[in-house]
Parts: sequence; C-alpha cells; structure tokens
Amino acid sequence: MTSSDVVIVGGGISGIAAAVELARAGVPVAVLDRGRRLGGRMAVRTVRDTETKWDGHPVDVGAGFFTVREPLFAAQVDDWERRGLAYPWTDTLGVAGPEGLTHFTSGVMRWSAPAGLRSLVDDLAESIPSADLRSDHEVHSVRVSNGGVLVDEVSAKLALLCGPDPQMARILAQQSELDEVRATLVSVDWEPVLALTAVYEKRSWPEISGVFVNGSDELGFIADDGSRRGDMAPVLVAHSSSALAAQHLDNPQTAAPAMIAAMHRILGVTAEPLQVHVQRWSLARPISGRDEPHLLDSTLGIGCAGDAWHGGPRIEAAWLSGQSLGQTAASELTSG
Ligand SMILES: Cc1cc2nc3c(=O)[nH]c(=O)nc-3n(C[C@H](O)[C@H](O)[C@H](O)COP(=O)(O)OP(=O)(O)OC[C@H]3O[C@@H](n4cnc5c(N)ncnc54)[C@H](O)[C@@H]3O)c2cc1C
Repeated sequence: MTSSDVVIVGGGISGIAAAVELARAGVPVAVLDRGRRLGGRMAVRTVRDTETKWDGHPVDVGAGFFTVREPLFAAQVDDWERRGLAYPWTDTLGVAGPEGLTHFTSGVMRWSAPAGLRSLVDDLAESIPSADLRSDHEVHSVRVSNGGVLVDEVSAKLALLCGPDPQMARILAQQSELDEVRATLVSVDWEPVLALTAVYEKRSWPEISGVFVNGSDELGFIADDGSRRGDMAPVLVAHSSSALAAQHLDNPQTAAPAMIAAMHRILGVTAEPLQVHVQRWSLARPISGRDEPHLLDSTLGIGCAGDAWHGGPRIEAAWLSGQSLGQTAASELTSG
C-alpha cells in the first residue's frame, strides 16, 4: 500500500462515514479493516444449507435495528429510504420477563434494511470510488513519526481510529506522546454480547417484531428476523445478557442450549430449530458514550470516532461521530 493523506483504521459505519467526508473533500483516503467484509458490528450472515427456501436469507447478527434522532442522520436515512435500502420497521416492541411476554410498548421508530444493515455501510463505501478501501487488512501499530503518523509501515498525515476503543487502544504504539489518547480510549468500559440465530422449518411464535427481555440471566433482546427483513422467514435472533456472554466468550456455542431454552420459554416455541449459530461480540457496546462527537489531535495526527462518542452507543452515534471527524479532518487538511 502506498501512502495516503489519511489512513482510517476500521471500516464500520463510523470509519466509512469519515471516509465519505474526506473523499468528497478531495482528500486521498485509505480505509483498512481486518474483517472479511466492511461493516463491523452491522454484520450480516446468510442462511445456508437448511435445504429450505430460506437459504440465502440475510440475518442481522450484530446490530438489530437503528433509530433516528438528529436531522443530519435523518437526511442520510431519507436517502436510503428513497432508494429502498432502509425502511421504518416497527415502533412497537414486546416486553418480556424471564417466563414470557408481559406487554407491548410503543416509542420511537426502529429502522431496518431489506438486505441487512451491512448493506448500508456497503452503500456508503460504493459512493466513494476514489477511496482505497481494504478488508482483510489488520493494522498492528499506529505511531507518531516525523510530523506525521506511521500506520504499520505506511506514512500519513492523519490516522483516524474508528471502532471499539479497546481495539484501537491496543494498536497505539507505546510512545509517551500517545499516553493521553490511550488514557481517553480506555476510560470507557465495554460489554460483550452473543447473538444466536435460530432457523426453523416454520414460524410458530406470536406476532412480534422484537422483544426486550428484562430480568433474564440469559437474554436481553429477541428479534424476529423475518419481520425485520420483510420476508417473514422463520428466523429468530436472540441477544444474550452480557453476563452470559462473559461466561462463554472462549466457546460461544456452549451458551446455545441456555439461550434457546430461554427464548422458547418466552415465546412459547416448542419446535426445535433446524440450525443454530452463535456470533461472539467481545466488544459489543460501550457501557456509556462520551458527549464529545470525536477526538482529533492534529499535532499528533491522531483522531478517534465510533459509538463511544456522540452520546453513543448506537449506529446513529457512530455515523455522526465518523461524519464529524471526517469533516473536521478534511477542513483542517484543505485549509491553507
Ligand atoms: C449484538 C449487537 C447489537 C447491537 N444492537 C444495536 C441496535 O439495535 N441499534 C443500534 O443503533 N446499535 C446497535 N449495536 C451497536 C452498533 O452495531 C454500533 O454502534 C455500530 O455498528 C458501531 O460502528 P463503528 O464503526 O463505530 O464500529 P464497528 O462496527 O465495530 O467497526 C469497527 C471496525 O474496525 C475494525 N478493526 C478493529 N481493529 C482493527 C485493526 N487492528 N485493524 C483493522 N481493522 C480493525 C473491525 O473489523 C470493524 O469492522 C449493536 C451491536 C451489537 C454487537
């Protein structure tokens, strides 16, 4: 890889939103992501090998939906909606205790994407053909060097670290100049979640879009992925409690029996799933979000964004954080 003015570490929605601002301002930008695909926690897994018509159905195995509060993000979502990439999914969700559904609650609109949430990150990435976007590219070290930065062996004017703070703190070189940034990044705790996907032969649960689960040792949320996708596929996705995830991080599949039993109890399902998959998110979400939109230290050449910024921890916060970091960095690089 040759040098770019800006190297962004992390191709989730915050990194790509930052890249969009930089590319549109004419700044040469590269995005490096260690995943097989861009998108980070807006991850999608395709149903395969069930020998049912649902093979090919995309399942959201990371974030379950997004909400919209700020006008800037609303304008982006309007554009996605106009082009059929996102749609208002539901404003009514079930509420359950450990033993079953107790009531329904209505509130803000939850948005979904017919092709899965990752398709929205892909859409942003496709809008910037001039950017050098690389998946399967893990960054091991970011250091300050000669008035710029070195991202592994690549030099740049700025390195923007866009993703979970603990992952980004880990790649900062042990240079005293970087101590303050490191201290900021480790100042917020993160929690794990396991996401269990269960594919059934047919639907056998009440009409729900999703269910918040309170007081359960096993679960925090259940989504009807067929409702979320709009194709009514017989697919449920359960998010574990962070306590259960913490106990099973080494071998996430071992959490499946307890998660399935809890989900079946709550929804009154008796059929066994045809297929089960457990996705581990060691750093699913920050416990709290900082109010600041992002961090940018132009003297060091280091910036940070993601869902621990802009009030976090939500897709909207990650997008806004990346967008504001990209915009600020672009105006600093292009002024004078
Ligand atoms: C189970 C779960 C449920 C959620 N539910 C919701 C929800 O319902 N609503 C909502 O709004 N939000 C939800 N979220 C949160 C939402 O997914 C995040 O807020 C958002 O996706 C964060 O985007 P990001 O770009 O900041 O980080 P990420 O999406 O994590 O992107 C960071 C990227 O950095 C890459 N990376 C890390 N280290 C390196 C390295 N060394 N080198 C190269 N690349 C690296 C990773 O591969 C990753 O792609 C949920 C998250 C999870 C896990």
